[in-house]
Amino acid sequence: MRIGIVGGGLMGLALADHLAGDGHRVSVFERGKQLGGLTTWHDFGQFVWDRFYHVVLPTDAALLGLMKRIGLEDRMRWGATQTGYYVDSKFYPLSNNVDFLKFPPLNLWNKFRLAATILYCARISDWRSLEKITVEDFLRRTSGNATFEKFWKPLLLAKLGEQYKRVSAVFIWSYIKRMFSARDAAASKEQLGHISGGYRAVFQRLRERIEATGGSVATDVEVTRVEPREGGGVSIRVGSQVEHFDKVIFTGPVNVMRQTVAESLVELPVQGKDVEYLGVVCMVLVTKRPLMPYYILNIGDERIPFTGIIGMSNLVSTQETAGLHFSYLPKYVLSDDPILQKTDEELRALFLNGLRQMFPDFSESDIESAHINRAIKVQPLQVLNYSSLVQQPRTRHQDFYVVNTAQFVNNTLNNNQVIQTVNGFLDQYGKEFARVQGESAEAVTPVRVAAGGR
Ligand SMILES: Cc1cc2nc3c(=O)[nH]c(=O)nc-3n(C[C@H](O)[C@H](O)[C@H](O)COP(=O)(O)OP(=O)(O)OC[C@H]3O[C@@H](n4cnc5c(N)ncnc54)[C@H](O)[C@@H]3O)c2cc1C
Repeated sequence: MRIGIVGGGLMGLALADHLAGDGHRVSVFERGKQLGGLTTWHDFGQFVWDRFYHVVLPTDAALLGLMKRIGLEDRMRWGATQTGYYVDSKFYPLSNNVDFLKFPPLNLWNKFRLAATILYCARISDWRSLEKITVEDFLRRTSGNATFEKFWKPLLLAKLGEQYKRVSAVFIWSYIKRMFSARDAAASKEQLGHISGGYRAVFQRLRERIEATGGSVATDVEVTRVEPREGGGVSIRVGSQVEHFDKVIFTGPVNVMRQTVAESLVELPVQGKDVEYLGVVCMVLVTKRPLMPYYILNIGDERIPFTGIIGMSNLVSTQETAGLHFSYLPKYVLSDDPILQKTDEELRALFLNGLRQMFPDFSESDIESAHINRAIKVQPLQVLNYSSLVQQPRTRHQDFYVVNTAQFVNNTLNNNQVIQTVNGFLDQYGKEFARVQGESAEAVTPVRVAAGGR
């Protein structure tokens, strides 16, 4: 069967890899110059690493399953990391139970309420009831105002920016489920992981595997129209070229779907009720010395222009980065926020100014380079009753499917969830790919690739 996939991010390529392995002829269309979408890489001068920060948790079973399937499991690296908080112009470690008991911004009663909230969230199984209350109301009610201001608000700002105010309590429930499972209870430490060489290694391997089956992976090609073909199947237009497929899977964001996909293929929410997206501006600071001892620092100070710092070289060995250290300084905003339109120079000046306020002793001569990256559509804003806005994979047309991150209704945006979604999609709809127009999948000889151990 000929299958077209719109989007060469992790979702599109993981789908393509599975379907190519099942013997289908797959074509991936990616509008970016590089593969990888939000997980793509960036040239930082002396080394190449992910454009945005990516961490893997020991509990990311689906993602680790992909790594094994494509023969990259030996690239996983694991280590203990520390978390910090910046509150009232001071840094506080918050990595283990002792740090927690000492954490001065909260008194004992606040700490008790915080621990009770985490335990309570971990026991909730019906996330749908949490869709009806904002995360702020939920946390103020369960943890109290002081704990909200000093603990939860910095964390929400680091993850969502000011837009946390519109997000439902499902966010914190899914965050707690994911993050607290990463703690090694015995060691009372966070065990986090990364892929040696960064995600670029994953995309290179996926591309090789798809191409080895006779499939194609094209970059710098923007799909401008997806429409039904008379007699069955779906066609994809790129510029003046039109290609026909037995089935097409769309993995891009909802606004692109609205602009490119024919109405007869998919039913979209009424205009104005679309999924809204968060964007991100992120400065990556490459330095000679480490900036801080934490992997993640949540910032509860509205004078600082970024909302968290990810000290990546507290996770990634400096052997991978030419002996240099690097930190990501993100600020999440709504995708139409004017800050996303500021020039790199303006953003660099703004963020470096915030950095000076936080680290007055950090010498600017220790800065090797400061890179500005931005993404307009990062993750859907999981507003109240978000699940009612979401497009389901099965569409109006039997040969057109949608699989994208907007479908994450009870999960945070992460690559484990991407692979879990791909696996779930194939479990549910895989049979529909087995037969088309008299051709059966069995008639197509599956191509097996030795390298990578498919
Ligand atoms: C700042 C930041 C931090 C993150 N941290 C983590 C983390 O620590 N751990 C983790 O697991 N995950 C993390 N993530 C999330 C991770 O990056 C996403 O889960 C993942 O990239 C989603 O993959 P995707 O393929 O679904 O979407 P995308 O990466 O958005 O891919 C969609 C692709 O479709 C392409 N496309 C869209 N329209 C068209 C068109 N018309 N024609 C052709 N191509 C098109 C786009 O160019 C894009 O490449 C982070 C993301 C960000 C931004």
